[in-house]
Amino acid sequence: MQHIAPLAKLIEQFRALPGIGAKTAVRLAYHVLDMDAGRAKALAEAIIEAKEKIGFCNTCFGLSDRNPCAICASEKRDHATVCVVEQPQDVAAMERIHDYTGVYHVLHGALSPLEGIGPENLRVKELLTRLRDSDVREIILATNPNVEGEATAMYLARLLKPLGIKVTRIAHGLPVGGDLEYADEVTLAKAMENRVEL
Ligand SMILES: [Zn+2]
Repeated sequence: MQHIAPLAKLIEQFRALPGIGAKTAVRLAYHVLDMDAGRAKALAEAIIEAKEKIGFCNTCFGLSDRNPCAICASEKRDHATVCVVEQPQDVAAMERIHDYTGVYHVLHGALSPLEGIGPENLRVKELLTRLRDSDVREIILATNPNVEGEATAMYLARLLKPLGIKVTRIAHGLPVGGDLEYADEVTLAKAMENRVEL
């Protein structure tokens, strides 16, 4: 047990982060103490600034420091193609493959009856509102290739097809049970290229 209270507090904060075990939390805390004051301040300020300036885009619900976000505001993007993903970090993963020029819609989760997550807990209503009176021609369902992601894709396909919009699902080059966020660029690019119409 750490007897220096501010150090104990710092360790506790690191320990609460995902993927950080007790040992790593201690190592990080000592590392911060080793930093010169300016470097430590820059780290603290980066956390505060990110929390203060980053919010959700009112169109796609991705993360952004402006509204609409740079992707939604861009004239270079194809606004008739919307790629639906589960999490804001999936947008970053898709952007890494570079050849996708459409826009996004972030659901903020996937359907999971076991966890009590229904369509009303996701940004589904917002997607329907967005599609109303829009010229969207294709919706690419890029939810994760796991049980929840598949259920979400099937649900959205049933919901969207009657609207006369082409609905496609990214192909299964992606590891089943995996996360889009961790897929390598080649796998993700292949999955987009080989998407199938639902
Ligand atoms: Zn946006």
